[in-house]
Amino acid sequence: MKLVMKFGGTSVGSAEAIQRTAGLVQRFQREWTDVIVVASAMSGVTDLLTRAADASAAGDSRTCSEAARELRRKHYQVIDDLLSAHEEALPLTNEIDRFIERFESLCKAVLILGELTPRAMDAMTSMGERMSVRLLAAYLRSTGTAAQAVDATDLIVTDGNFQSATPMLDLTAGKSTECLEPMLMTGVTPVVTGFIAATADGITTTLGRGGSDYSAAILGQALHADEVWIWTDVDGVMTTDPRLVPDARSIKRLSYREVAELAYYGARVLHPLTIRPVVEVGIPLRIKNTFNPDHPGTRIAKEAKENNGKIKAVTAIRDLSLVNVEGKGMMGVPGIAARTFGAVARSQVSVLLISQASSEQSICFTIPENCTDEAIGSLENEFSAELARRDVDRIWAQPAVAIVTVVGAGMRGTPGIAGRLFGALGEKGVNIIAIAQGSSECIISMVVDDRDTGSALAAIHGLITRS
Ligand code: ADP
Ligand code: ASP
Ligand code: MG
Repeated sequence: MKLVMKFGGTSVGSAEAIQRTAGLVQRFQREWTDVIVVASAMSGVTDLLTRAADASAAGDSRTCSEAARELRRKHYQVIDDLLSAHEEALPLTNEIDRFIERFESLCKAVLILGELTPRAMDAMTSMGERMSVRLLAAYLRSTGTAAQAVDATDLIVTDGNFQSATPMLDLTAGKSTECLEPMLMTGVTPVVTGFIAATADGITTTLGRGGSDYSAAILGQALHADEVWIWTDVDGVMTTDPRLVPDARSIKRLSYREVAELAYYGARVLHPLTIRPVVEVGIPLRIKNTFNPDHPGTRIAKEAKENNGKIKAVTAIRDLSLVNVEGKGMMGVPGIAARTFGAVARSQVSVLLISQASSEQSICFTIPENCTDEAIGSLENEFSAELARRDVDRIWAQPAVAIVTVVGAGMRGTPGIAGRLFGALGEKGVNIIAIAQGSSECIISMVVDDRDTGSALAAIHGLITRS
């Protein structure tokens, strides 16, 4: 039996966490035989690397030196705590130091050029995972488990879309099998970097922030794993973000579709693309808590039992703006929507939610707030003739909005859900600016003023806990 287990940043974030993680690897190895470990960078490290890279591009060299000092402190502390008198300690310290030196050289290059390309950013942020897997593998070896750190640049092949690369599954399956199967056959546990990959020419890429979950799923598919487990710092997928609503509860079962919607609409517990590889081959996914391992967590598989009429979870995405394209001359004119979204796509901005009034006098959609100017510029360009003729009256954006999304396959065909939602929001004085419901009826999304996000989540969460 083959199990891929991914450990997030907090699960490798300190000496104590690494000890727990190693204990879990050893425990489940006894039950599953073949365990492939995927690990994130220590918590906070990717943020640190990203900030230093950005600062270097802006001509600030101090942030990079401070980051390098902090990286050494963080990683050496773990070596000190876990391996101080062990023969692994010195070679490991030297190896970690080489990664930090390489990072500092890249910062210097960026500082001189005054430019940070996505490709350079990927090379720089890849250092976090390269270091953490070496720590974890060395600690596993020191406690008697044969383990080897593996850079996923040797396993996962992607296109060259740096910072959000797309995997090529056939090439990845070939390389992963070739590299990892011999290790598994000889009883060695591979400890693979999450988040990072490489193009066919070997240039380092990344799968986007939070991408280690995706790495685990990609390897799960490539190696025909029986299950993929994501270990994090909460008891699975919860009814809402526990940092925002403290009485959030863990959800026992979810379908692939429900969890995909949750992740897409802001539940950061899972990278939105994670389920794509596992759903294709039907590999069950489990989310568990490293710090409470006996809790069953959340199991995600094809069809979860649909408790009729139930909303299962609510999530939010903040820092958005709502763009409106309005005009009486748009009514019944074919192609307006295609041109609108074509123009937005050309400005490289992704649209999160769309809503159109039936009279066709307006189309509105949400985009990340920091992309508003590009999107509006591109739309004004596209519709310059219509604006001059007044067929399109206005292209404008409402800043500071959020999308609040409720998810639950059981809502399908259950009348009255929308009414209960709007009632609960109305009671808290939350104004709904726009609404969209997927045809699957698995989700309803509402655009609200960003300041109302907390009240909206609490109001809807109240419906979940009362049901
Ligand atoms: P990791 O480093 O393990 O990948 P993340 O920080 O990426 O951890 O994701 C886990 C965090 O996601 C939790 O600590 C929690 O605060 C947040 N979160 C947001 N929404 C949800 C949700 N619906 N269920 C569970 N966790 C959520
Ligand atoms: N370390 C990466 C990040 O912080 C990937 C991950 O944690 O999943 O985004
Ligand atoms: Mg994560």
